[in-house]
This record gives sequence, C-alpha cells and structure tokens, in this order.
Amino acid sequence: MPDATCIVLTGFSGTGKTAVGRRVARALGWRFVDTDEMLVERAGKPVERIFAEDGEAAFRVLERETVAEVCRMSNVVVSTGGGAVLFEENRARMLDSGLVIALEARPETIYNRLSSTSGGSGAEAMVRPLLQANEGQDPLERIEALKRERQWAYAFAHWTVSTDTLSVEQCAQEVLRAWRRFGATTPGAYRDPQRAALVTTESASYPVLVGWGILEEQLGRRLAGTGFQGRAYLICDNNVVHPYGRAAQRSLHQAGIETHLFTFPPGEPSKTLATCATIYEWLAERRVERRDAIVAVGGGVAGDMAGFVAATYLRGIRLVQVPTSLLAMVDASIGGKVAVDLGAGKNLVGAFYHPSFVLSDVATLATLPKRALTEGWAEALKHGLAFDSGLVEIYESSAEGLLALEPELTTEVIARNAAIKARVVTEDERETSGLRALLNYGHTIGHGLETASGYESYLHGEAVAVGMTGAALLGQRVGVTPDAAVKRQAALLQRFGLPDRFSGVTIDTMMEAIAHDKKANGGDISWVLLDEVGSAGLHRGVPKEHVEQVLRELSK
Ligand code: NAD
Repeated sequence: MPDATCIVLTGFSGTGKTAVGRRVARALGWRFVDTDEMLVERAGKPVERIFAEDGEAAFRVLERETVAEVCRMSNVVVSTGGGAVLFEENRARMLDSGLVIALEARPETIYNRLSSTSGGSGAEAMVRPLLQANEGQDPLERIEALKRERQWAYAFAHWTVSTDTLSVEQCAQEVLRAWRRFGATTPGAYRDPQRAALVTTESASYPVLVGWGILEEQLGRRLAGTGFQGRAYLICDNNVVHPYGRAAQRSLHQAGIETHLFTFPPGEPSKTLATCATIYEWLAERRVERRDAIVAVGGGVAGDMAGFVAATYLRGIRLVQVPTSLLAMVDASIGGKVAVDLGAGKNLVGAFYHPSFVLSDVATLATLPKRALTEGWAEALKHGLAFDSGLVEIYESSAEGLLALEPELTTEVIARNAAIKARVVTEDERETSGLRALLNYGHTIGHGLETASGYESYLHGEAVAVGMTGAALLGQRVGVTPDAAVKRQAALLQRFGLPDRFSGVTIDTMMEAIAHDKKANGGDISWVLLDEVGSAGLHRGVPKEHVEQVLRELSK
C-alpha cells in the first residue's frame, strides 16, 4: 500500500476540485479539506467580507497560513482556492508535501458548470458573481482571460487531469490512478529534487535550488516557470562569463527569454557605486522595465552588486541569484543582503532585497581557484560548528570526497548548508532575535584581522577560520567551549587547509580593530562562542585580558 499521504488538487473554479476531492478522500478513507472553507471558518466571515473589510493582502496571508497548515497534515485530500497557486510559497509547500494534481477544463466547460450551479464556498463563490456582475463583458471571455492569466501557475503540478468529458466519479478514478502510479513511495518523494530550502520572510518567499550540472538545463525553465514574461539582464565578471554566463544565456534563450549580458572586471575592487552607475546607464539604454529581471551569475561580488542594482533600479526589479563560488552558494546568495563598498569600508551601502530564486550549480565549482574554494569551506564548516553537529560528522568522515568535489556528496552538503542559512534567515531576517548573529561565529576576530591587515593578506574565509580558532580558545578560557570541541574544530580546519594562526599584524592593531567593531555595535561585544559542536550562543562580558591572551596565542 502506498504510504504517500497527501493529495493536493489545484485548478480554476469549476474544474471540480471539491466534488472530486471528496470522492477521492472517501475512496481512500482520508479526510477532505477545502482551504477556502477552512479559511472562512478561521476568519469567521465569508471571503467577500474578508476582501471588503480587510483587503486582499489579509486574505492572502490567511490563505498562506491555511495552505501551510493543511500541507502538514497526512491522510488528507486538499482542494485549494483557485488563486493559491499564484504564490511561490504556496506552490512550494504543496510540492513538498504531497502529490499535486491540477484539474483542467476548457473555458466553455467551466462556464457551463458555473452557470448550472449556485453557491459554492470561498473564492469559488467569488468568481460566480464576478462573472455576472461585469455587465458589458461576456462571462465566457472573462473566464478565458482569467484562466489565461493563471495558466502558468497550474502548470507546476505533478500531474494534470482533463475533466471536460469526465464525470466526477471518472475524474476521481483518474486522480486515484495518478496517486497509485506516483504514490508508491514515501511522502516527500514528489519533492522537487533540486529544492534545498525555502526562504520565507515577511517580504519574500523563494526556493534555493541546488544540483549538479543544472545551470544550462534549468535556469531558463525555472524562470519561465514563475510566470516571467520579461527580458533577462545577466551581470557577471570576466572570469565566469565563459562558460557560465554563456550557459545561463543559452538556457534563458531556450526558454524563449531575451537576454543581455553585462560583464565587469573580477574582484572586490569592482563592487562599487561607480560600477553600479555604469550598470544603471546600461540598463537605461536598453529601456529596462519593471517586468524584466537581473540575473547575477558569479561569486559574492556579482551577487551583492547585481542584487544592489536590482534593489534600486526602478525602485526594484526582479532578481535571480546564480552563485558559482562556494562562498556565494552557502552564504552570500541566500538571505537578501545586497551591498557595495565605499572607500571608508565594505558593504556600507546596501539593502535587504531577496531574489525570486537561487540556483546553485555545484558543478561550476570545478573551475573555482583552489584558494577561493578553500575559503568557502570556512563558511560551510562554520554552519556545521554553530548549528548542525550531524553536518560536522559528515565533514569529519568525508573530507577527502568533499575536497575532491564528489558530485553527490558535495551537492548534498551544499544543499544542507543552504538549508541552514535559509532557516536562520527565515527565522531572523533582520537580525533582531539574535539567531542570525550566530552566523557571525568567528567573525569578530575575523573582521578584526581583515581590517588590521588592510584586506590584503587574508581572504574573508581565511580570516574567519582564524577567528573561529580564536573564538574556540576564548570559549575554552571562559569555560563555555569544551576541550573536545576545540580539538575537533582544529582538526577540521587543518583538514580543509584553512589557517588557524595569523602573522604580520600586531596584537595592538587587532585589539583596536575589534574595539572599532565594538563601538559600531554600541558597546559591549557579544561573542559568538561554541557551547558544544553544532551549537553556538551569544556571550557578553568576556574580559579584555582573555581576548588579548587569545590573540597572542593566535599570532605566530
Ligand atoms: P568573488 O565574487 O570575487 O569570487 C571570487 C573569485 O572567483 C573571483 O575572481 C571570481 O571571478 C571567481 N569565480 C567565481 N566563481 C567561479 C567559478 N565557478 N570558476 C572560476 N572562477 C570563479 O568573491 P566571493 O568569494 O564569491 O564572495 C565574496 C563577496 O561576497 C564579498 O564581496 C563579500 O562581501 C560578499 N558576501 C556577501 C554576503 C551576503 O550575505 N550578501 C555574505 C558573505 C560574503
């Protein structure tokens, strides 16, 4: 007996979701849930009144919460409101939780069905008066137009049943047939295999896709699949334009999307307002509109800068992140922080601006210079050490495979990293609860080292590795971090080829740089220390003498 226990029916009003859903639920002995009915019950008033009194935004919030709740149920057949699928977050939850079946019908069939029935629940009931109320407009035309608008969103389903010539019973049998065919697996098996995580914040909701060799095959299809109708403006540096910028372009062309390409010299010195100004001019010459998209292909520099341009041009146009460096895949591309540098400091001008999706093709790491790959591992190790002891065990048991970029293993580990970053950002987008601050494990001393060495001797990840060593020693001194955790971390950093000591910078300069950070943070430093492997916490009141002592240990 199949044990996949959630079937989600989607489709336009009048395609029979409720009648068919009830019939399927009866046949399986499962519960039937109509999201609109549930929502109306919650709100204590009909959909028309929710729209009239609270507005459409309030309705969509209720709808989102309801979809999230039913998607957590098992042994359930769910009928969804006709508009729920228009939102990525709802689609993602449905795909993650069950077998999604779209019921399809021609506009004429829908018109006939809606004309011959009355009442109905929720949003279905909204469509019927809408059809009658629009005097002067042919109701059939109205259905055709609405359906055309929404068709792209129904296309995401795992399976589609054409209901025009079928009775309710026959439709139910078709749904059951699809369920038997796809359902002989465990729940979640319908899940999008590339979806590593879903970021959901107050301002956005988007998937992070991670796979091996997916750039050319999937980028265009994925963007088109969001209902995108505009042109794509790719921004990448000269190192990655061949082959990745071009591969991205081909993928978009294949999906019928017109593309344009902007390239810039690689490296941090390009991440400035001056480069942004050149990009703005380039976009303006091409008459970019709000329905178009910026596609950032490359490392964190391309992602941060193209993201900042997307956030600001025309007060915000769509953004897609296609990270090609390890650091960008596990960190920079997820979370919505976009920024450029000023002479006075890094990332001083920026915004929170989320992409429509992140697509990480792990195979692109094969060409990443070794030093950049190694520094990326520092952030990935940090995720494990601060949040996920299981991930640390994988690093310990499979370091060789990861360093050799074994496809399946590396993809799984990067996906797990992306999921950690996505979860943290989802729970604490703006760093208000302290959770996101834990991502700064190793960064207090790390930033100090970067500043004190003038951003020249140490790459960010290398500085963070030294910073993690410092934090572990500090934690040990103040009795927070167990000796065993300090040893395990040291062994990992060594296996991944990361530094754990610094040179060429005096203790005084380091103390000054750390104190500057402290001032910027308004006083006492909150140190992120390991309480144990896989669990970090914020600690205040660490004596300055301990910090100095640790810095002495770290300096060669
Ligand atoms: P980067 O973009 O400069 O990339 C590093 C180098 O690798 C560049 O020369 C680039 O051309 C090259 N490269 C990238 N992918 C390649 C590939 N697949 N094959 C060959 N070469 C490739 O820098 P980065 O290390 O990716 O990112 C650092 C930037 O990210 C910094 O500006 C930092 O401030 C930012 N960052 C942002 C966040 C955030 O939350 N927004 C987080 C961490 C870091």
